[in-house]
Amino acid sequence: MRCLVKSRAEAGLWMETAPVPEIGPDEVLIRVNKTGICGTDIHIWNWDDWARKTVPVPLITGHEFAGEIVELGRNVTGLEIGQRCSGEGHLIKHSSRQSRAGKFHLDPETRGIGVNEQGAFAEYLRLPAFNVVTLPDEIDDEIGAILDPLGNAVHTALSFDLVGEDVLITGAGPIGIMAAAVARHVGARHVVITDVNQDRLDLAARVVDVVPVNVAQQDLREVEAGLKMSEGFDVGLEMSGNQTALDQMIDTLVMGGRIAMLGIPPGKSPVDWSRIVFKAITIKGVYGREIFETWYKMIAMLENGLDVSKVITHRFAARDFAQGFAAMQSGSSGKVVLDWRA
Ligand code: NAD
Ligand code: ZN
Repeated sequence: MRCLVKSRAEAGLWMETAPVPEIGPDEVLIRVNKTGICGTDIHIWNWDDWARKTVPVPLITGHEFAGEIVELGRNVTGLEIGQRCSGEGHLIKHSSRQSRAGKFHLDPETRGIGVNEQGAFAEYLRLPAFNVVTLPDEIDDEIGAILDPLGNAVHTALSFDLVGEDVLITGAGPIGIMAAAVARHVGARHVVITDVNQDRLDLAARVVDVVPVNVAQQDLREVEAGLKMSEGFDVGLEMSGNQTALDQMIDTLVMGGRIAMLGIPPGKSPVDWSRIVFKAITIKGVYGREIFETWYKMIAMLENGLDVSKVITHRFAARDFAQGFAAMQSGSSGKVVLDWRA
């Protein structure tokens, strides 16, 4: 099969051929139809410090996928050959206290496909049956291929009650934009999204009814005043990993405000803890998706009017992956989807 491999400890990815994976008794084989390129894949392409420390070479990359079940391990029940599916890319074990408590997304032994284990940028993917999430007809392969990052957005956005609340999202990357769509869908009052990249803000405004704010040019406090938010935002969703954005969020939140933090700051960054204490702010770190509550909720929302399709801005055949990665590297794209059947 064709697959996109980190085969050398240097920048780049290479399209190679490898045997179709053999599945174990509790696994399924999935024929991959479409995949999404993630910021993580860009780190792996660039071979930055994080990637060097984390990713074994050689490794088939990629973790955002949709496809079809083509083979079932002998212990697998409840799934059928021919079913369309996506799946959770975090592989967990069942021995930790958190797993045994049913909090699978908090398992400290989590390993990621396309990061620690063979991934989904391939014609076929081997996955534990436990991780498979079947797709209803209403969700096409393109959306199926971006359920992983949509799940990040959903997990973060549903961390706190947003109904009737004023929500600030810092970072209009694909995940921030999808979080804005989720906040709107569940009934937030005002949803403001910030970025310093105008292309991204323009994209946000095309995808969802939000107030885009370019914080390189506009004063967020003036925007707040214009929206008649006397005391500030109730909930902040941090989706940029940028220190200035987090500072601004803490600044513009109400007393007792809540922050769900998905963005990953590069290294240690200074925080003004006294402001967090005196404003009585709650901060929740968010990792991955709740397994499988986030999946149930996002599929239900997609079946009930949540529309994130316009966040996909580029589509390429898998053989043209380099163009897809270039679009991602430009920093102005939304989601980029690769077609493995083209
Ligand atoms: P992205 O890099 O595409 O988007 C981040 C955006 O933040 C960019 O558009 C950038 O211009 C913007 N930004 C930079 N400085 C800013 C500022 N001062 N104010 C406002 N915005 C600013 O990222 P993404 O793929 O949308 O992911 C969002 C974040 O979530 C990233 O930090 C990513 O690493 C992280 N992430 C975390 C998890 C997790 O499990 N915790 C999973 C996926 C992604
Ligand atoms: Zn991803």
